[in-house]
Amino acid sequence: MRSHLLNDTTAEHYRRSVTEGVERVAAKLAATDRPFTGVTADDLAPRIDAIDLDRPLRDTTAALDELEDVYLRDAVYFHHPRYLAHLNCPVVIPAVLGEAVLSAVNSSLDTWDQSAGGTLIERKLIDWTAARIGLGPAADGVFTSGGTQSNLQALLLAREETKTEELTKLRVFTSEVSHFSVQKSAKLLGLGPDAVVVVPVDHDKRMQTVALAHELERCAEAGLIPMAVVATAGTTDFGSIDPLPEIAGLCEQYGAWMHVDAAYGCGLLASRKYRHRIDGIDRADSVTVDYHKSFFQPVSSSAVLVRDAATLRHATYHAEYLNPRRMVTERIPNQVDKSLQTTRRFDALKLWMTLRVMGADGIGALFDEVCDLAAEGWKLLAADPRFDVVVEPSLSTLVFRYIPAAVTDPAEIDRANLYARKALFASGDAVVAGTKVSGRHYLKFTLLNPETTTADITAVLDLIAGHAEQYLGESLDRAC
Ligand SMILES: *Cc1c(COP(=O)(O)O)cnc(C)c1O
Repeated sequence: MRSHLLNDTTAEHYRRSVTEGVERVAAKLAATDRPFTGVTADDLAPRIDAIDLDRPLRDTTAALDELEDVYLRDAVYFHHPRYLAHLNCPVVIPAVLGEAVLSAVNSSLDTWDQSAGGTLIERKLIDWTAARIGLGPAADGVFTSGGTQSNLQALLLAREETKTEELTKLRVFTSEVSHFSVQKSAKLLGLGPDAVVVVPVDHDKRMQTVALAHELERCAEAGLIPMAVVATAGTTDFGSIDPLPEIAGLCEQYGAWMHVDAAYGCGLLASRKYRHRIDGIDRADSVTVDYHKSFFQPVSSSAVLVRDAATLRHATYHAEYLNPRRMVTERIPNQVDKSLQTTRRFDALKLWMTLRVMGADGIGALFDEVCDLAAEGWKLLAADPRFDVVVEPSLSTLVFRYIPAAVTDPAEIDRANLYARKALFASGDAVVAGTKVSGRHYLKFTLLNPETTTADITAVLDLIAGHAEQYLGESLDRAC
């Protein structure tokens, strides 16, 4: 069994195993002609159930063969140009290389004595990101597992900065289309059930600042405390970007912490063409960035950035065995002092390799391509009488619904769209997402693959229309 430990005597086994795995994945990527096979949980569950974990195969090739059967064959492949569903990106090769290195070396970024250079690399990337945002000389931050954790940590700092124990008096303002992690965080942070004040959005799905001002005023009048405003720079559903400069002004006026959730829109930090769309982000007290969404990084890779490094102390706890207080005066850099996590992956290495091989402009150019593609897609949809399209994209998302001329019952149109999404998924020809707009069912393309073309968009729209028409035809038969 010792031959499976990665060490000085097993280099050849390591090389062979990893190479065999890489060859399989490479072959898979090359052979994938659809993003999905359409497998169902009922199809797959018995195959996985049948495997006896207490009877190992004792052979890498056999284990990979089995993996082919239970996972690789039927996985959902984000690199395929017709995967258009969620905020999943195809990944860049330098990042995948970084992933292979970081898991083999297996540094843990909690303390200097478990990572050494890894700590400094992470810190440099945090500084780089903070500088791109424009947070100023006192900025800092830390890598996290994802936007959810970043938002939670930002709101923890905001809560502590209010210096109040009366948690039920705290209010967090965010738009009606912000991410649910804001609500979740409020709950985890022990705020009251009315803590999150939902602010309406305008026609473009951006927070209405007049309504925000009104809510902040009401909060002040009621003797409550405006703990934070969470602005979204790239909503998950629409890619819409809240008016950051106006929100920053209101936060200053009412003394609220400004958090910008740029989990999606952070890709613009690397864009030469569209960076201006997130102007005002430099005025935030904290920012969430998900490199695993718009920097083409493998999951997980995310960070929370803060304007004032000192605020990170709210997440600091000392343990004698790990990061004793004296290490602070000895200036030993322990990232655990800033993190909600303890043992923590060296995810930063993936972004490091990406920037060292491709550069930020390379990433920005890829993100620009998907933004441009979305703009083209919007024109196609707006000109197509079969579809209703919701907002002109600020990033790379299109929300639309099939609207047959002959059908007037909106509930029937809902069902046709729901059916089309399901049928498309079952066919595996393309994967699209869905959401609700004003109570009605819509479909969604999240475009993050620069390999997707307008021809793909047209083809998928035709497939959707075909499935919806088939549903409506059958439903007519049912009615007769
Ligand atoms: C995806 C997303 C999140 C959550 O990020 P995870 O990395 O999935 O935890 C938060 N906010 C927004 C706007 C998002 O799009």
